[in-house]
Amino acid sequence: MSALLFADASQRLQNALKYVNIPDDAIERLKLPKSSLKVSIPVRMDNGDLRIFPGYRVRYDDTRGPTKGGIRYHPNVSIDEVQSLAFWMTFKCATLNLPFGGAKGGITVDPKTLSRFELERLSRGYIDAVADFIGPDVDIPAPDVYTNPMIMGWMMDQYSIIKRHISPAVITGKPLTMGGSLGRDTATAMGAFFVIETVMPKVNRSPESTTVAIQGFGNAGAVLAELMFKAGYKIVAVSDSKGGIYAKDGLDIPSIKHFKESTRHLKAVYCEGTVCNIVEHDVITNEELLTLDVDMLIPAALENQITDANANDVKAKLIFEVANGPTSSAADDLLQQKGILVVPDILTNAGGVTVSYFEWVQNRTGLYWKLDEVNAQLKERMVEETERIWTIATDKSTPIRTAAYVHALNRIGEAVEAKGTKSYYLGAA
Ligand code: NAD
Repeated sequence: MSALLFADASQRLQNALKYVNIPDDAIERLKLPKSSLKVSIPVRMDNGDLRIFPGYRVRYDDTRGPTKGGIRYHPNVSIDEVQSLAFWMTFKCATLNLPFGGAKGGITVDPKTLSRFELERLSRGYIDAVADFIGPDVDIPAPDVYTNPMIMGWMMDQYSIIKRHISPAVITGKPLTMGGSLGRDTATAMGAFFVIETVMPKVNRSPESTTVAIQGFGNAGAVLAELMFKAGYKIVAVSDSKGGIYAKDGLDIPSIKHFKESTRHLKAVYCEGTVCNIVEHDVITNEELLTLDVDMLIPAALENQITDANANDVKAKLIFEVANGPTSSAADDLLQQKGILVVPDILTNAGGVTVSYFEWVQNRTGLYWKLDEVNAQLKERMVEETERIWTIATDKSTPIRTAAYVHALNRIGEAVEAKGTKSYYLGAA
């Protein structure tokens, strides 16, 4: 399945190639990752057993700068999934014009089955295994699914122990007291919100007349739900890994968020409550959520949720991809035939890596920004790049996703060109 994921991810590159005029060298470079690391992480469990967890880090392309990308803890993590996520990060960083290439990491583990001590030993063990592969000028990890600021803090601390100096810029998404940035915790959702607000007038919609379903109620999905609720959108369905809830007149998002937070079994680590426990709403499955009769669908959980198996049943007219890779390329074609506008992951969820970039800048300068400054700079970048991509899509009559890839490819192509291409060396240019 996940080997197919990378083939599917690469398809998006193919779709964009006919609209760009970049050196062949750039296209060749982007076909395979720069380097991939597979590690085995030994962890002494609380009962005395030794368990070995597979871990990965893939640096996809560093033409535009050090590589950047999150670390995922999930039972389905594989080298192919990590490679696909690293590929998307390469395009996402270029889309937002961040001075980074793309990377990703992960551990194949169900973190909810670990104690806090085991989780810390696993996180520090991952850094022991990848310390020579990462660094503030080489590759900078961050949080992703089922990793959080506390884990980033343990990882930064472990890296600093290994290198024998404090190195906050090696990782982003840290706790504020360890060099984190204000606004990083809400950045992915806030960035997505700015993209949505930029697109809404272009499609002649207002928040009050727009019903929304959101799959995934974590760092990205829950914060976005709250922002949209406050802006007047009618959010009729949300879900987490255990299922979803639906109310045709709209959900009271702050109280659902409060419930979810108050049922955490591992405070500040994982939320083990489920939105399904709120009994006054209809319970739906994650599959049902995707095909609800709503105006806007926001997948904010995992990849490969909208595929050729269910794309024909999707009724939303607008899809904003907050998750990475939630739509397969076959589904893309079907959605396009149905006239559904899909705003892709490499734009919609880029707020997270953008504020991670701000965090890295703050760590390196030692000067920390106010929240207003972080959010203002985030807004400026998200709106500007959304407008640029919209213009490309209009000028070239392409789907928004293709336009975003064209935009990113042009920037990667320029960087490849700056280093010298075949035509330069053979004297043709
Ligand atoms: P998270 O761990 O905070 O939350 C994940 C959410 O998805 C949880 O509510 C979980 O219950 C739910 N979930 C898990 N499996 C599910 C399933 N099979 N069906 C429905 N829901 C399921 O993770 P997050 O940081 O919110 O990440 C969500 C998505 O956003 C991922 O695709 C991630 O790569 C992407 N993303 C996150 C960031 C970030 O900064 N956190 C940045 C860019 C992209």
